[in-house]
Amino acid sequence: MTDKPIDPAAAQSTITARGGWSSDFTTRTSAPPVYMTTAFDIESLEQLDSVVGGQEKGYIYTRDGNPNHEAFASDVAQLEGAESGVVTASGMGALTAVLMAMVKSGDHVLAARVLYGRTGQLLNHLANSFGLQVTYFDLDDLAALKAAITSKTKLCIVESISNPLLEVADLPEIVGILGAIPLLVDNTFATPCLLKPIEHGATLVWHSVSKYLNGHGDVMAGVVVGPDSLMRRIRAMSSLYGVNANPFESWLANRGLRTLPLRMARVSQTANSVAQFLSAQPQVSRVIYPGLADHPHYERARRLLPDGCSGMLAFDLPGGRGAVDCLFRTLSDRIPFSPTLADARTTLSYPTGTSHKFMTTAERAACGITDGLVRLSIGLEDPADLQRELGEALAKLI
Ligand SMILES: *Cc1c(COP(=O)(O)O)cnc(C)c1O
Repeated sequence: MTDKPIDPAAAQSTITARGGWSSDFTTRTSAPPVYMTTAFDIESLEQLDSVVGGQEKGYIYTRDGNPNHEAFASDVAQLEGAESGVVTASGMGALTAVLMAMVKSGDHVLAARVLYGRTGQLLNHLANSFGLQVTYFDLDDLAALKAAITSKTKLCIVESISNPLLEVADLPEIVGILGAIPLLVDNTFATPCLLKPIEHGATLVWHSVSKYLNGHGDVMAGVVVGPDSLMRRIRAMSSLYGVNANPFESWLANRGLRTLPLRMARVSQTANSVAQFLSAQPQVSRVIYPGLADHPHYERARRLLPDGCSGMLAFDLPGGRGAVDCLFRTLSDRIPFSPTLADARTTLSYPTGTSHKFMTTAERAACGITDGLVRLSIGLEDPADLQRELGEALAKLI
C-alpha cells in the first residue's frame, strides 16, 4: 500500500475507514506501522540536499517530521478540505506554532471573547510579555469586529462551537468582514464531520486532537491544517519551538480517527436527547445546547451544523457550587468529573473551577459562566442509561 488509497470524492466515513496511511509505509501490513525513531539515515549529501530543499520527499529528524505525523495530519487535512497539516504535542502546541508563524510583536489579533480558557490565556501572555495587541469581540456584535480591524491586524481567532457556552460562530459573516485577514478556527468541538470551516472561507483550522479526533481519552496531541504556503511556516515553527507530536501518539490518534464519523453522529444524537431530557428537569434552570430551539444561535446552528451539534452541552444548577459538588459526588462512579472532554465515556466538568478559573467572577459572569454551570461531554453510552443516571442524581438535589 504505497499510495494513499483514497478517492478524493469519497465520503468522510470512507476516508476515515480506509485512511491512516502514508506513502512511506511500504510493507502491506493490515494496520499502519509505528516509526519510533529519533532520526532517519541519509544515503548521501546529495540526498540530504534534495530532502531539505523539498525536491525529494523524505525525513531527517522526527522533530521536523515523521511518517506517523504525516499519516495523521494528511487525513485530517483531507477531512477538513485543506492542502496539508501539521500534528503537534497538544492543541496548545498547534496554537503556539500558528501564532509564532503568523504574528510578531506589535501586530494585532482579533479573538472571540469566549474561548477555551488557555487560548485566551496564551493570547494575554503574548500581549503582556511580547507586545502583541489583542482585541476581543462578541460573536453577536460583528459591527464591533469590523470596527476593531486595523492595518496591523494579522489574524482572527474563533471557535466554531465555543467552550463552554456552545456559541456558534457565523463563519461566512466573519469571513466577509475580515476580507484578506486570515481566519483561524478552533474546530475541536464540531470536527470536520459536522462543520468544515475552510468551506466557509476560513484560512486555517486547528484542533485539540486530545478530544474528538482521537476520541478515546488516551492521547495528547494537536493538529493544524491549511494552505501549503502557510503550513510550511507553521511546520518550521512547530520544529523550532519543539511542540512536535510523538510518533506513537500520532499513531494512536490515527487509529481513533478511523471511527470519527460514527462517533460524531452518535454523540450528536445522544446530546440532543439528553439536552431535551435535562430541559424538563425541575432542578435545572437552563440548558445550553445549540440544537435546542431556545439557544441564541439555534438558527445559525441549523444553517452551519445541519448534521448535528456535537456532544457538548452545558446546564445550570441554581444551587451553585454546592449543588454541582453534590451532583459530581453522586455521579462519580458512572459519569465522572474529569477535566477533559470527548472521551468515549460521558464526563462532567466544571468550567468555573477548571478551564475558566483564571477569569475573575465578574469576567465569568459577563460571558455567562456561572458558579452553577456544569459541562457535560456526551460519550457513546446508551442514551437511556445516561438519562436515568442524571435524573436520579438530580433528584437528590432537593
Ligand atoms: C482542550 C482544548 C484545547 C487545547 O488542547 P490541548 O490538547 O489540551 O492542548 C483547545 N481548544 C479547545 C476547544 C479545547 O477543548
